[in-house]
Amino acid sequence: MSDRRKILITGESGFIGSHFIISFTKKYPEYELHGLDNLTYASNRMYTKQLELYDNYQFHKIDICNRREINTLFKKYQFTDVVHFAAESHVDNSIHNPGIFVQTNIVGTLNLLDAFKAYSSGRFHHISTDEVYGDLNMNDELFTEQSPYKPSSPYSASKASSDHLVRAYHRTYGIDVVITNCSNNYGPHQHREKLIPTVIDCILHHRNIPIYGNGKNVRDWLYVQDHISALDIVFHQGVNGETYNIGSNNELSNIDVVHSICDIFEKKGFFKNPRDLITFVADRLGHDQRYAIDASKLKHILKWEPEFNFSEGLSITIDWYIDNMKSNI
Ligand code: NAD
Repeated sequence: MSDRRKILITGESGFIGSHFIISFTKKYPEYELHGLDNLTYASNRMYTKQLELYDNYQFHKIDICNRREINTLFKKYQFTDVVHFAAESHVDNSIHNPGIFVQTNIVGTLNLLDAFKAYSSGRFHHISTDEVYGDLNMNDELFTEQSPYKPSSPYSASKASSDHLVRAYHRTYGIDVVITNCSNNYGPHQHREKLIPTVIDCILHHRNIPIYGNGKNVRDWLYVQDHISALDIVFHQGVNGETYNIGSNNELSNIDVVHSICDIFEKKGFFKNPRDLITFVADRLGHDQRYAIDASKLKHILKWEPEFNFSEGLSITIDWYIDNMKSNI
């Protein structure tokens, strides 16, 4: 039997999964990479279709909630490792339709863990969020890996449940796992429903920019490529059973983020006064006030450092949307 690493990457056609599998396919020709996605509204197969030119990549259109198909896939390919991105990821949708979040994020993860336990011998890397820790007041300490779980939305509750399942499978069955909890990502390929693409889309189409509540909710923003470099390090060097927080101490209120985007558009000479489009709308139900993450474990022990500052990452992101919105991606 070949000892080549065979890695299943779920959610490969979504925002972060697509960046991850593009990076791994190009960087690690010695690995056999299998992208899996059931191509929900949040995905775009065009992001990873280019990888079909590489002979270490193949794609599977499968729903992780379909236990039978997941088992058949694992039995056939005997994956060594899994990097699990697939999820319903939008908090607003979870408020209106929590059931699908329970199915995909909890039951889907359970199906993968069971198949992994039966057929795999390597590592299960579970991709999660800082939202499992709940929210902070402005003077509270940052979230560490020891912070208690206190999820507020059905989305974060479903991600918290899946984290617990992964830890339970490690403890009960001895499978090799790592969990990463990351702050808010931004960058190319993000679905238009999320804050930064929404703002860019509104400016490009001269529509009002809707801001929840007073716009003072704070998030810790990380450029997607910095998330990918952290995942690469944790996947290869993280300690079995450990959790690593990922974030870059880049706390900004939503209104500050929107102002930054408006200012970059003005600097690029596109529009005059895009800030005039800002409109405050009714707040999101249960809206978390602040997320802020302490990533010192990852930085000190695994020597990860983010490379992109916010204005650099934002400028690249805006350029990507300007190019791609023309072709309606
Ligand atoms: P996304 O919504 O852009 O992508 C999710 C992908 O999963 C999509 O391609 C979708 O088609 C796929 N998917 C959904 N249900 C599926 C199913 N039943 N079977 C197979 N595939 C399915 O999400 P994202 O922003 O790329 O997030 C990826 C992961 O990272 C998620 O687990 C999310 O919780 C986590 N995360 C995201 C952020 C962020 O800021 N975006 C931050 C921290 C953690």
